[in-house]
Amino acid sequence: MRLSEIGEFGLIERLRAILESQVIGDDTAPIKIKEATLLLTCDVLLQDRHFKLNYPPSTIGWKAISVNVSDIVANGGNPLYALISLVLPDMDLSYVEEVYVGIKKASQFYSCEVVGGNVSKGEKLCIDVFMLGQAERFVGRKGAREGDGVFVSGALGDSKAGLELLLMEKKSYEDFELKLIEKHLRPTARIDFLKHISKYATASMDISDGLSSDADQLSKASDVRLSLLSEKIPISKELATFCKKHGKKPIEYALSGGEDYQLLFTHPPDRLNPFLSMVQIGIVEKGEGVFLDGRPLEPTGFDHFRMI
Ligand SMILES: [Mg+2]
Repeated sequence: MRLSEIGEFGLIERLRAILESQVIGDDTAPIKIKEATLLLTCDVLLQDRHFKLNYPPSTIGWKAISVNVSDIVANGGNPLYALISLVLPDMDLSYVEEVYVGIKKASQFYSCEVVGGNVSKGEKLCIDVFMLGQAERFVGRKGAREGDGVFVSGALGDSKAGLELLLMEKKSYEDFELKLIEKHLRPTARIDFLKHISKYATASMDISDGLSSDADQLSKASDVRLSLLSEKIPISKELATFCKKHGKKPIEYALSGGEDYQLLFTHPPDRLNPFLSMVQIGIVEKGEGVFLDGRPLEPTGFDHFRMI
């Protein structure tokens, strides 16, 4: 059987079964050492798959740290330390240094520290970050309860539009286009939500593959139905302008666009914090699956082995 036949999630399920792991299945692995709950995660950025060499190198470094912080924060943890494995072709030193300027800026922004790593020569540039965090209370995908509200931390779909704009390789971009590109190149993990998630969320994950796929994962893990309303899903004015210009539907970008790195979480609706940019997009009900406006929603987000 080819990997494209079972997809990324089918593959992970097979590997989990071999390891007989009871832990695998969340954005990070929670490990108890004495009284501390440590969160472990890793994420790789690969040239020509996640980025192209003509992107500003400092944004590649920023993103490599941010995507890992996003997973740690999603599970209610503080990012602490990172290790970086670099695979490099024989390339310009200044390029690699610029990548590390981005890594340093991100580490300072999120108050974490890169404490080591290793280097190997290879055909393409690859940056793999392992990150360690610590949580007072681990919040995974499992705990959503009937009656909870379903929330997201901000607008969805911008990153996919930004990527499409980048691939157009236009000579010049309008301001709203540059903002969308920035969302793709330089996402910011929602560390401002950390206290809220840690204190109130019953279930939480980050939206890295697209809302439809990530909501499906959360619904399966919690064994509940998520009923979402399309009119509630936050869309930025930049994405609305982009879609109008190109004859596309913003909701499709929000549902299937990956790499937004917003948070998807549940808790009782009255826990809504008006000082955070959170939006309630639905409710948790008894049952299974994800429903949008009363109709079943298929997961159409990103899958590494099912790309066209
Ligand atoms: Mg994640």
